[in-house]
Amino acid sequence: MRVYNFSAGPATLPESVLTEVQQELLNFHGQGLSIMEQSHRAKMSDDYAVLFLQGGATGQFSLIPQNICQPTDKADYVISGQWSKKSVAHAKEFVNVNVAADSTESKFTTITPQADWSLSADAEYLHFCDNETVHGVEFPELPQSDKLLVSDMSSNILSRQFDVSKFGIVYAGAQKNIGPAGLTIVIVRKDLLEREGQKISPVFNYKTMAAAGSMSNTPPTFAWYTAGKVFEWLKDLGGVTEIEKRNAAKSKLLYDTIDASSFYANPVDKAYRSRMNIPFTLANAELDALFLEKSAEQGMINLKGHRSVGGMRASLYNPMPLAGVQKLVDFMQIFEKENA
Ligand code: PMP
Repeated sequence: MRVYNFSAGPATLPESVLTEVQQELLNFHGQGLSIMEQSHRAKMSDDYAVLFLQGGATGQFSLIPQNICQPTDKADYVISGQWSKKSVAHAKEFVNVNVAADSTESKFTTITPQADWSLSADAEYLHFCDNETVHGVEFPELPQSDKLLVSDMSSNILSRQFDVSKFGIVYAGAQKNIGPAGLTIVIVRKDLLEREGQKISPVFNYKTMAAAGSMSNTPPTFAWYTAGKVFEWLKDLGGVTEIEKRNAAKSKLLYDTIDASSFYANPVDKAYRSRMNIPFTLANAELDALFLEKSAEQGMINLKGHRSVGGMRASLYNPMPLAGVQKLVDFMQIFEKENA
């Protein structure tokens, strides 16, 4: 029996994808060998190169300035949670970082309104994290800027539509909405491939990897193969337009349950609440262990909040079905009745 896995990542995968992977494991398309034993290939879009890299989203924190900047250049960063804070710490080794906004003081329960950002006139790009996985804050819309936008979409890529033409670079670790860990997607506007960057290994150089179809060295073939199946799964169910509706319904169900109760609480400013990662606390933190124990008994796992925030966190990535969220809110209501 499969459980409902609410982990922030590596996260739940579509069951149909796992079944297909299982079926094809020994014999891929009648060829008598598995995908891991096969050779590899890839394809690119027109204005953007879609790179399949390694090193995680964390690798990109440094690799972005290394690829498109000189150390003396300037870049604006918005800090809205733990991950964007970390991206600043890593990037500043390779570019002059101007922290344009920082919502640390709110304990990352909100995002500083753009009117209050101190942007620099000569920044090469503006970096933000579209969805903060730990704190559960998400940008409701794109920042308005004529600067090159660069965004970490690790935990919300493919969960809703966005206009890629507004971006210089979008990047994401695959292990939430795309597939297994070990694959990092970097969507980079092709003119940026011509930027003079810093000294860097060819396996992390955007231009080299774009020219080689992301195969200047051996890619993580099993992660690519499984991601391909997740893309097919998403297309079959109606693509990003459809999953966007489902994600809205899933997160609404959980937020409505939390907001209707005086036992559960979500601290995030309603305008910036994440549809993907929903942290919540119980009225009495001493009940946390019991909540986790009882929910796990009923087949709902990984609901423990990040250690820096405490409480609970439910991650509702694309493959999490509405039925999983319904089961969670039913459980929450019963738990409240029994323990409040
Ligand atoms: N950015 C965000 C928003 C994340 O959620 C994560 C991983 N949880 C990372 C970056 C780091 O990703 P990786 O572990 O792939 O380096």
